[in-house]
Amino acid sequence: MFQVPRRKTVPVRVRNVVVGGGHPVVVQSMTNTDTADAAATAAQVAELFHAGSELVRITVNHKEAAAAVPEIRRRLDDLGADVPLVGDFHYNGHVLLREYPECARALDKYRINPGNVGKGASHDRNFATMIAVAREYDRPVRIGVNAGSLDQELLAERMDANARLAEPADAQQVFLECLVESALRSAEAAQALGLPRDRILLSAKISQVQELVWVYRALARRTDLPLHLGLTEAGMGIKGIVASTAGMGILLQEGIGDTIRVSLTPAPGGSRTEEVRVAQAILQTLGIRPFLPSVTACPGCGRTTSSYFQVLSQEVERFLTARMPLWRQDHPRAAELRVAVMGCVVNGPGESRAAHLGISLPGTGEAPRAPVYVDGEHVATLEGPTLAQEFQRMIEEYVRTRM
Ligand code: SF4
Repeated sequence: MFQVPRRKTVPVRVRNVVVGGGHPVVVQSMTNTDTADAAATAAQVAELFHAGSELVRITVNHKEAAAAVPEIRRRLDDLGADVPLVGDFHYNGHVLLREYPECARALDKYRINPGNVGKGASHDRNFATMIAVAREYDRPVRIGVNAGSLDQELLAERMDANARLAEPADAQQVFLECLVESALRSAEAAQALGLPRDRILLSAKISQVQELVWVYRALARRTDLPLHLGLTEAGMGIKGIVASTAGMGILLQEGIGDTIRVSLTPAPGGSRTEEVRVAQAILQTLGIRPFLPSVTACPGCGRTTSSYFQVLSQEVERFLTARMPLWRQDHPRAAELRVAVMGCVVNGPGESRAAHLGISLPGTGEAPRAPVYVDGEHVATLEGPTLAQEFQRMIEEYVRTRM
């Protein structure tokens, strides 16, 4: 009923994935291994892929890294991980792509940061080299501008021009306009060098939410090239998740963003796949794209008799997450399944009826029985030690017969 309209953009094919052009918003991620370590990098790319990342970016920062890229691709192919690999280039991409043609061939997309491809004439020459390689291997590029590495010549030029105005604009405003302009100018330059429009994506990342929203709205007004969305350097844990969700949520709701990445800093020893799960959760929560069955659970309060309600919510969540990869083949609509696990009679029956399946556990003073609702109908009442297994069996049956 509440479909989020998508902005019309040019479709760009990256190996077996299409970004933009009305295709589903693509989830991507980036490794944090040393790319020169082909075994470790391939293993992490595969892990991200299996977690649901549809594009994976690896840094290609020096010769050893470039030399390892074909081996990473081979290992991924051996593992059956048919995921597009994106090379992230800064400073020396023009050298590495030319000197390591097998690397250029093994990558499915190149990220170019126009802020660090060189200065003056060498900027244009290096940029042109990267575009020439992209044309040669028919690879798309992402013009990836970043606030932390904005083209300083462009910025100085615009700041000087602003200073000469009778009423100069705020310096931060000039900075944000430069981010947008750097991306758009580079896209025009790439096209002037012969790269087709359907081989170009854009991004202009910044770490502050309101600024991100301003920049992407401006980009969306001025181009129909697909946009890669992300709040750069979002940070760790709750802060990173909330900031990314707030920033990207506003833009996605406006139809802006064809592919997203959540730039979380993992906790020491934490899994890199967290950023994939968060990206999926953002898209699913906004009703843009389902990935996993969802559990509606109340927060619990003084009416919940024990922690059993929390235990059951967690068990159901784990069950759905474990079963989804198996359901994906024969019951792909299971990703849209909504299950409610509620703590008492106040909101329990209502939320349970609104879900595909819902269970309303007994709260304080209620009889120790849990009514179960399927598609709004009260179909069973569970109790006793087998309650969790019984409920999971009903979920399994529902998916098998109705999804
Ligand atoms: S449904 Fe019941 S237990 Fe859950 S938060 Fe509401 S009143 Fe509390």
